Amino acid sequence: MNGRSERGPEDDAVGATDNPGLSVSGGDSRTDKRCLSVAPVPATRLSLLFVCALFLCACTQEGAVPSKYRRAVEAGTKKSKVAWKIDFHAHVATMSFERAQRIMDRNGIALAVNLTPGFPGGGLETALMMSHLTGDRIVNFVNIDWEDVGDPARFAETNVRHLKRAKAMGARGLKISKALGLGIPAAGIEAAMKEHTSASELLRVDDPRLDPIWEEAGRQGLPVSIHTADPVVFFHAVTPSNERYRELSVHPHWSFFGPQWPKFEDLIGQLRKVVASHPATLFVGVHFGNFAENPSFVGKMLDEFPNYHIDVAARVPEFGRHDAGKMRDFFVKYQDRVLFGTDLGVGRSLMLGSGGDTEPTEDDAEKFYDAHWRYFETGDRRIDHPTPIQGDWKIDAIDLPVPVLEKLYYKNAEKLLGVRLNPVDLAPH
Ligand SMILES: [Zn+2]
Repeated sequence: MNGRSERGPEDDAVGATDNPGLSVSGGDSRTDKRCLSVAPVPATRLSLLFVCALFLCACTQEGAVPSKYRRAVEAGTKKSKVAWKIDFHAHVATMSFERAQRIMDRNGIALAVNLTPGFPGGGLETALMMSHLTGDRIVNFVNIDWEDVGDPARFAETNVRHLKRAKAMGARGLKISKALGLGIPAAGIEAAMKEHTSASELLRVDDPRLDPIWEEAGRQGLPVSIHTADPVVFFHAVTPSNERYRELSVHPHWSFFGPQWPKFEDLIGQLRKVVASHPATLFVGVHFGNFAENPSFVGKMLDEFPNYHIDVAARVPEFGRHDAGKMRDFFVKYQDRVLFGTDLGVGRSLMLGSGGDTEPTEDDAEKFYDAHWRYFETGDRRIDHPTPIQGDWKIDAIDLPVPVLEKLYYKNAEKLLGVRLNPVDLAPH
């Protein structure tokens, strides 16, 4: 439900670049192929061969890091065992792309995914333009236009058209907010003006009017990052005995307790059905598959559905409460389908996974990212988690092997986004 803005450039959000080491589409390097295809053609091609050889050589050197990523990669190297990182779950306001990149540079994030730019004619063009003007380091997804939801045929037709257009303009995925299931009235957006009194008035996650959209996302190769429900205790009574009482007191509208709201289990069941029914569409269950309280449920979904991925955004405090050995096993087992993300929100104010009653600073953002590196990369016990307001407890770090960290931090995201970042990965082995 974004509004605003006119058309912008149609170029690729990440692809068009001054970086010879960065290619788009599926992860192979066109430049590499060109170089390697220079067959033993004699003299006239020698200079070209020489240039290619220089490039391949440069790819294996540190100096080959494209200048726009250099600060981030330097910061990444200082703070973590892996220099390259993609934050697959961020929210960047239109006028805050530069601020977001300052934070990314400081915290070793080469590329971030802005999940909430809007849709064609509703903000997306401006976001793509801002991204391009600021060096193509923020990739934009596209969002649903709920305007016609009360007219299923028109709703599907509008959004299918939007997906095609968004893909052509450079959007790299579709983001579904938790409003699906917890806010969009089934009867149409006008009904949002009055309070709903029963769960049945809300659009279900598995409502068939969304089927053509899931199918089109699959056809367009756009991964669908989907947020369904919220932490389990947000569906419990808001009393001092609720373990998220402090957070719910600051944000009373995050409570979904009462008969007017669907049950958590029903929402997750609907999500499961959507993932099962659209095997050609790649879904990313955000916030640790939307069920960080229950890694074995999430693991079962990953086992059952090859089209399912998850991100870890804003849930380190929750899944970090589980036994460190078991969590380590989880990340190793599903190493090809877990994406690093944080729920960093950058606008006039900052959001670091959640929000408290005080305004976070950019120093807080650094602590926030550092707490992630410490959890994933060390074996430290009883450490602070990244988001203090999400719970008054300590967590045990899981000391992941470097190849697993590389997949978590950027290689899995590269595949989904169709980009290659690290020139060293492009060098022939
Ligand atoms: Zn988010």
